[in-house]
Amino acid sequence: MQLTSKRQTTGTPNWPGFDHPEFDGHEKIVFGHDAATGLYTVIAIHDTRLGPALGGCRMWPYGSTDEALTDALRLSRGMTYKNALAGLDFGGGKAVIIADPEVHKTPELMRAFGKKVDALGGLYITAEDVGLTPSDIEMIGCATKHARGTAQNHRGDPSPYTALGVYNGIQAALSHKYGSSDLHGRKVSIQGLGNVGFTLARFLHHAGAELIVSDINEKSVDRAINAFGAKSVDTEDAHKVEADIFAPCALGAGLNTVTIPQLGAPIIAGSANNQLAEPDDGEALAARGILYAPDYVINAGGVIALARHDVEDEVLEADVRSIGDTLTTIFKRADAENAPTDVVADRIAEERLMAAGEIS
Ligand code: NAD
Repeated sequence: MQLTSKRQTTGTPNWPGFDHPEFDGHEKIVFGHDAATGLYTVIAIHDTRLGPALGGCRMWPYGSTDEALTDALRLSRGMTYKNALAGLDFGGGKAVIIADPEVHKTPELMRAFGKKVDALGGLYITAEDVGLTPSDIEMIGCATKHARGTAQNHRGDPSPYTALGVYNGIQAALSHKYGSSDLHGRKVSIQGLGNVGFTLARFLHHAGAELIVSDINEKSVDRAINAFGAKSVDTEDAHKVEADIFAPCALGAGLNTVTIPQLGAPIIAGSANNQLAEPDDGEALAARGILYAPDYVINAGGVIALARHDVEDEVLEADVRSIGDTLTTIFKRADAENAPTDVVADRIAEERLMAAGEIS
């Protein structure tokens, strides 16, 4: 996600720390350390106007404290917008742990992090992100009840819900572009066949779509060819395929000044985070007449599943499917306001936040 506007922080003093380029009026930033386990964590709480901050925890061997802080601030702000547009009564927050998950991760470290989360008394609710697994969340959950995605909250892996949301988003985009959401005979180029991409491929195949798939992992590609009769393409050519939809489900920043002129599909709708390399790339897509489903809107199925962990399956599925309705609203408003879809998405999120009133 490339958010296009900054929060109003009238009167924020230009003091060291508060003048961080990514500060954006964060409500609370906690630097946590535990000497016994070697835990170094930054927990960033951006905005709780809609409710407690919900967002995952990323473990990464950041090169510096500032790198970790910058990531935490950017990600937590992104969660404010994502949760707002998903219609959730949760604010935005995110945590990072400065450590190499392959080397430094221990159950004790995870529990120490859980204690830091617990000390916030529910202001921040944590979950899985890059570098953590469902079993790490179990460990964190031993020290705090403010962790989502544990066995106790029985829907551990949120990726099937992310895939379901993307599937509904694709249908909404087709409806908007062509007046029909029917996938029969539609060609979809899927880049990345991981947890989300492969499940999405299954949904699309069952709906009658023709799949062109790519992944750096050849086994995943072979699996999709065998399971869905998919055709394959080199990963670097996935965006160029003449298809109805390009679904980026691998890495971010795939839509940039080099790839946008080469795009072969009139619709971009996939799960990857941070698809636009720069904020202006949304404008460039709109100028080419390409309908872009903003990443943080279409990939919200996973966070919806975490937020709504206690509802019946049918209720949750209906919530995730409503991502299609949200996208339709964005597409129509983008047409009416002659604005890129990513800009309109940000505006709608900000309107919801403003309506929620001041920080209590
Ligand atoms: P994953 O790690 O399971 O899958 C990613 C896949 O992309 C892997 O199969 C990998 O081999 C492949 N890949 C990596 N580099 C590639 C490249 N250059 N070209 C083609 N394929 C490449 O991840 P995931 O959980 O499926 O998530 C996919 C994307 O969706 C990520 O950007 C993630 O941040 C985003 N996302 C995921 C969720 C979720 O619930 N899992 C929620 C929101 C957003």
